[in-house]
Amino acid sequence: MIFSFPDRKFSYMTDRNNLFSVNIPNSDKPRVVIIGGGFGGVRAINKLDSNKYQIVLLDRYNYHTFQPLLYQVATAGLEPDSIAGPLRKITKKKKDTYFRMLRVSEVNTDEKTLTTNAGPLNYDYLIVATGAKINFFGNDRLAKHAFPLKQVTHALDLRSHIFQQLEKSEIVTSEKQKKRLMTFVVVGAGPTGVEVCGALAELKNNVLPRDYPQLDVSSMQIHLVEGKNRVLPAMSEKSGEKARQYLEKMGVNIHLETLTDDYDGKIVKLKNGQQIETGTLVWAAGVQGNLINGFGEKSIKKGTLMVNETNHVFKNYETKVIYNDVFALGDVAHMLHEDYPNGLPGLAQSAMQQGEQLAENLNRIAANKPLKAFRYKNKGALATIGRNKAVADLPKIFLSGFIGWFIWMVVHILFLIGFRNKAVVFANWIWNYFTYDRGIRLILRPSSKKKDQMSKEMIQEMHEA
Ligand SMILES: Cc1cc2nc3c(=O)[nH]c(=O)nc-3n(C[C@H](O)[C@H](O)[C@H](O)COP(=O)(O)OP(=O)(O)OC[C@H]3O[C@@H](n4cnc5c(N)ncnc54)[C@H](O)[C@@H]3O)c2cc1C
Repeated sequence: MIFSFPDRKFSYMTDRNNLFSVNIPNSDKPRVVIIGGGFGGVRAINKLDSNKYQIVLLDRYNYHTFQPLLYQVATAGLEPDSIAGPLRKITKKKKDTYFRMLRVSEVNTDEKTLTTNAGPLNYDYLIVATGAKINFFGNDRLAKHAFPLKQVTHALDLRSHIFQQLEKSEIVTSEKQKKRLMTFVVVGAGPTGVEVCGALAELKNNVLPRDYPQLDVSSMQIHLVEGKNRVLPAMSEKSGEKARQYLEKMGVNIHLETLTDDYDGKIVKLKNGQQIETGTLVWAAGVQGNLINGFGEKSIKKGTLMVNETNHVFKNYETKVIYNDVFALGDVAHMLHEDYPNGLPGLAQSAMQQGEQLAENLNRIAANKPLKAFRYKNKGALATIGRNKAVADLPKIFLSGFIGWFIWMVVHILFLIGFRNKAVVFANWIWNYFTYDRGIRLILRPSSKKKDQMSKEMIQEMHEA
């Protein structure tokens, strides 16, 4: 399908260039501002023609996060640096391309201006690629006590917390307290939840008994709680069933068709009336679009920006009126797409493909060519459960076991940013594979949920029966 682009007139130059507070030099080319250096934003930059556009990338962090491997940081398999790539490494490759580390709070689509914590910035074309944020479905207690896994800092918090719990377990004498410290609950049996449970089970079975000889590590409990009736609900039934078998064999307790009601930091209450005493609840159960302010209610549905098949944000998705110069992609966007009535899958692949297609369309705009509609190429979905255990729904074939796991490894290494990260991750995995070890079990800084690792209050709390 071909879209012709409506009347395009740039108003980019000096009239609005008094807004220089984030110090982007003037240019005689239209300015494309991309908010978010995630999978979609980075792909868009790579493909955008910097002979035709001045490109500005904005992100609240100065690095790209490879979210699929966050769980490995959280469970001591990888260092955080090896799954993060500096965004300047990407922008420095292109001319007239700039990076600014700042947080965007609002867009004014009439003025074509962004409000950021460093001052305003004007754009000619805007790409919103801000991804998703954790959704606790309005439960403040869950938000306070549960561990999310979306950012590098979350993974570091969870890693510290897991090892703080184990250190405390060796100190306390009360069996009740020990049990709570050594019980881990993961909510959400999507790939993240499954991978966290698998990694915890591997720690329990292969690593911790040697580290904590005085502790009865076999009493450590891992629970996976899922509202739907199977594991990996977004993948094929075969994958879900295989993943369930793997996890159960590794000692994970799976609770299907079970909703989580509340968590106060000590007891998880499930909606079926069951309660699990635990000091750790990992929340892998929901995300929602990471919106910036300034879009009207007719642009937003279920917490995401509604876009058409050329990624134009709808001013009004009911009447199909669009903003000519504002685009959104990836997890923050919901594309009205005839093949995907419930939206494209919330995967890195879909963000990357949209980023590339949108950049190509912007290049076409500059060349006065008609735009192409986005078509998603399903390259499959993967989830790993542990060594030699993964499931892979590839377009024409289902794979599991060693082959699935090998494909999972290769794909993840290929998509990491930078040769150094690829090499470090590969070396770590080889080491972990042959030594059955997980070398990064460090509490470098206490979990920010519980600031002081061994405060008086914490020791008091530890000894409470
Ligand atoms: C734990 C976990 C595991 C996953 N595993 C897989 C997997 O195995 N396979 C897979 O395909 N997908 C996986 N995903 C999903 C995948 O990571 C996302 O679909 C993908 O990251 C979406 O890309 P994006 O470009 O839309 O957003 P993101 O990659 O999330 O990037 C958004 C960027 O925007 C920045 N940002 C946000 N708000 C602002 C603001 N206001 N101002 C400035 N910057 C801002 C953020 O800092 C971030 O860099 C996983 C996700 C998680 C959380």
